[in-house]
Amino acid sequence: MQTLETDVLIVGAGPAGLSSALFLSQYGVSNLLIEKYRWLAHTPRAHITNQRTVEILRDMGIEGEVLEKATPQHLMGHQAICTSLAGEELARMRTWGTHPSRKGDYDLASPSQICDLPQTLLEPILFEAAASRGTQVRFNTEYVSLEQDENGVTATVRDRTRGKTYQVRAKYVIGADGSHSKVAADIGLPMAGQMGVAGAVNIVIEADLTKFVAHRPSALYWVLQPGSDIGGVGMGVVRMVRPWNEWLLIWGYDITQPPPEIDEAEATRIAHNLIGDDTIPVTVRDFSLWTVNRAYMTRYSTGRVFCMGDAVHRHPPNNGLGSNTSIQDAYNLAWKLALVLDGKAAPSLLDSYEDERTPIGKQIVERANQSIEEFGGIFDALGLTDAAGTEHLLANMAALKENTPEAAARRGQLRAALDQKNYEFNAHGVELNQRYHSAAVVTDGAAEPPYDRDPQLYYHPTTWPGARLPHCWLDRHGEAVSTLDLAGKGRFTLLTGIGGEAWQYAAKDISAGTGVDVTCFAIGPGQDISDPYGDWARLSEVADSGCVLIRPDGHVAWRRQAVADDCTAELGRVMDLLLNRTPAQPVVDPPVTQPAEEGPLVVS
Ligand SMILES: Cc1cc2nc3c(=O)[nH]c(=O)nc-3n(C[C@H](O)[C@H](O)[C@H](O)COP(=O)(O)OP(=O)(O)OC[C@H]3O[C@@H](n4cnc5c(N)ncnc54)[C@H](O)[C@@H]3O)c2cc1C
Repeated sequence: MQTLETDVLIVGAGPAGLSSALFLSQYGVSNLLIEKYRWLAHTPRAHITNQRTVEILRDMGIEGEVLEKATPQHLMGHQAICTSLAGEELARMRTWGTHPSRKGDYDLASPSQICDLPQTLLEPILFEAAASRGTQVRFNTEYVSLEQDENGVTATVRDRTRGKTYQVRAKYVIGADGSHSKVAADIGLPMAGQMGVAGAVNIVIEADLTKFVAHRPSALYWVLQPGSDIGGVGMGVVRMVRPWNEWLLIWGYDITQPPPEIDEAEATRIAHNLIGDDTIPVTVRDFSLWTVNRAYMTRYSTGRVFCMGDAVHRHPPNNGLGSNTSIQDAYNLAWKLALVLDGKAAPSLLDSYEDERTPIGKQIVERANQSIEEFGGIFDALGLTDAAGTEHLLANMAALKENTPEAAARRGQLRAALDQKNYEFNAHGVELNQRYHSAAVVTDGAAEPPYDRDPQLYYHPTTWPGARLPHCWLDRHGEAVSTLDLAGKGRFTLLTGIGGEAWQYAAKDISAGTGVDVTCFAIGPGQDISDPYGDWARLSEVADSGCVLIRPDGHVAWRRQAVADDCTAELGRVMDLLLNRTPAQPVVDPPVTQPAEEGPLVVS
């Protein structure tokens, strides 16, 4: 049997697998990506691409391409709740940071803008970047099984075109094979929660709906209609794919009953119901069924196999966290694999992937499901929860307009319920407050800073080790650069200031001694980089002569308040702790070549 060899085998070409491929190729790691189907996503699912994800894509040099194709933030925000697009509007919410009172929070937090990019357009960008940087890709290739030994993993895969199986020998495997992950099942990852708690139908249409939406541009429109219940939300969704002529309609079904039979006529009927005008020409492009899940893995890896994305966190689209978290999982693991495979860090560094990412997975599954439940407040306020039949439902909605104390109370109740939806649509803290606790972070002894505002709604910048490096704009010889632009690029970054010259020497010494790139920048007047607005001085939480060490994934690894007596020794101690290096022995054993009929093919 033929055997392919690679350092990392990636199973699944969704957002998690494609971004793993991109990051590994960017870091110079040989990787092979296999995908069961013949191409990438053919229907739009994930759209919301949050600031953290765009920052990561900025680090990879593809932010410009993403923003060019995406719908920008200012067209994402006037989310309406209505009886149909042509019908009555019951309420409107300012979402995704577009309210003037929130816009500043988003602008202050990141060099990157939240945007809306369908998976059908994001995936080809990731794919092209990965393949052009070295990823080997095999479509129509299905993962079948794997076996691990202490030196690597042998996976059996099936070429679906020719119907033949062959083996891939890899040092590590990434299971990014989505919510029915066979890899996760095969390595025995324990799951908490429940799959298939509700059913939904996705219908992709082309229809020019400009006249219904241009005055309230938004990513989402919620339509209250009897029978439209999705996943307990009780509403149908008209989801913008491209403004304003391509749409994804989401319509619920009762999962305890057999799935609905959808054909083009039924899909058109649902579309016209949601639009509220059956004279609008509609072209149905696709329809498919999916289920709402509430499940997460409590472990992400076994031995040399690591799972990520929907393989380990399965939840409804509320909050738009799925593909974002998948890409962020990949960013967390890729630099660690690169260092371990290069022999510059001990394999135990990889344990931190699970330690850091499992709490995030659990959090987003719970958050997304709670966001569904929080629609209940809107239904209560509108008197829909206990409505018996359509007539009663419409009468209750009409009663909201009455000049009675009861109607006034209901209107207040509705405003409060809409405020609660900030936890779904303006949850900036959920997106950016990811603080890691693991052995890949070295404490400076300071206690974790408490959040001074609601941690789900508001981002709290801090250089506390484990947190994401705070962003501010700096000046490099007339060019605006973000603190985050100084970091990333697959290397460690050390930021210091006036009086911190010794850190610059230390970074050079450590880089030369370990082979791990630690690049140092001094920030301040007369330094490499200036801080014209004084923002870094306010954010850094260390003295000018101190330092902040940043990991390749933009999270703070360690910091020191002021210059040390021996900066090289101090930085060396920290790097040793971070990388768990055991210099006396090789970190990764050489690969074992499997006996192969046609000889091993090395993928590099
Ligand atoms: C209606 C809807 C709206 C959504 N909106 C958002 C949003 O706004 N923002 C957001 O972040 N997320 C959103 N999501 C969630 C998002 O689509 C997923 O979280 C995301 O696609 C997960 O990425 P993944 O790479 O882990 O898995 P997937 O995208 O599922 O990719 C897994 C890949 O693995 C392949 N595969 C499976 N088994 C095998 C095998 N045995 N061998 C080889 N290949 C295999 C599959 O074919 C697939 O290509 C939405 C989801 C839905 C359904």
